[in-house]
Amino acid sequence: MEIIAARKLTKNYNSLKAVDEIDFIINKGECFGFLGPNGAGKTTVMRMLYCFFVPTSGKINIFGLDVTEHQSVIKSRIGVMPQDDNLDLELTVLENLIAYARYFDIPKSQSTKIAAELIEYAGLSEKTHVNIKKLSGGMKRSLLLARALINNPELLILDEPTTGLDPHTRHNVWEKLDALKVKGTTLILTTHYMEEAERLCDRVAIMDSGKVITIDSPAHLMDIHGGNLEEVYLKLTGRRLAE
Ligand code: ADP
Repeated sequence: MEIIAARKLTKNYNSLKAVDEIDFIINKGECFGFLGPNGAGKTTVMRMLYCFFVPTSGKINIFGLDVTEHQSVIKSRIGVMPQDDNLDLELTVLENLIAYARYFDIPKSQSTKIAAELIEYAGLSEKTHVNIKKLSGGMKRSLLLARALINNPELLILDEPTTGLDPHTRHNVWEKLDALKVKGTTLILTTHYMEEAERLCDRVAIMDSGKVITIDSPAHLMDIHGGNLEEVYLKLTGRRLAE
C-alpha cells in the first residue's frame, strides 16, 4: 500500500531548481533512501515531506492526503529527525522531550512517562536532568531520534541520521531503525553513506542536481550495473558521492 506519492515535485530557491520535477512512491513498511552528494536536493525533499517547505509546484500525497491542505493531520502522524540539531539548549534532556510533546497535544501526565521511556531508549537515563549543552554530538543525535518517536509515528523521516557519528553509535542507530521496521514503521532517510543505504534500505532514489536518476533496490542496482553502490552512483551520474 502506498503511503507517499510525489508527482512532478519541484522546489526552487529563486532561480535555483533544488528539486526538479521528481516522481516517487513510497510503500507502507518499507525503508526508502534518498542518496546523493551534498547539494543533490535530498534535504529539500525531506523538508517538503514533513511540511516545512511548500513545494513550488507538483504534488505530494501522504496517507492519501494532500500536504498543502492537510498539514496538521499529516504532521501528527509523522516523526522527524532533522539534520540540524534543533534541541533547546536552555533545557534539560527531559524538559526538551516534554516541550516537544506539547506540539502533539500530549498531556503532561502522559508526556513525562513517555519522555522517561524514550530517554531510556536513547541510553540517556543518567542524563535525564542534564542540560543539552553538556551532551556529546552522538548523545544529541540519539536524543533527536528518540524525540522523533514521541507521537508513536507511522512514518519516520530521517535526514542524515548517522552523519558525524562514530561507528559504534552508528550501528546502534541502525539497530534501532531495524527494530522500528520490524514494528511496521515506514522509514525515509537521506544518506551519503553507501554502507548505510545497502544495510537499511529496501529501495533507494539516486539523486543528482535536483533530479531522480533512478529508483530501485540496492541489490538490483548492484546486480545490473555491477560493483557496489558507490560504483553504481559513479556509473549513473559520472560523479563520486564524496564530491
Ligand atoms: P542535500 O540535502 O542533497 O545536500 P539540499 O536540499 O540541502 O541538498 O540543497 C539543494 C540545493 O539547494 C543546494 O544547491 C543548496 O545550496 C540549495 N539550498 C538548500 N536550502 C536552501 C535555502 N534555504 N535557500 C537557498 N538555497 C538553498
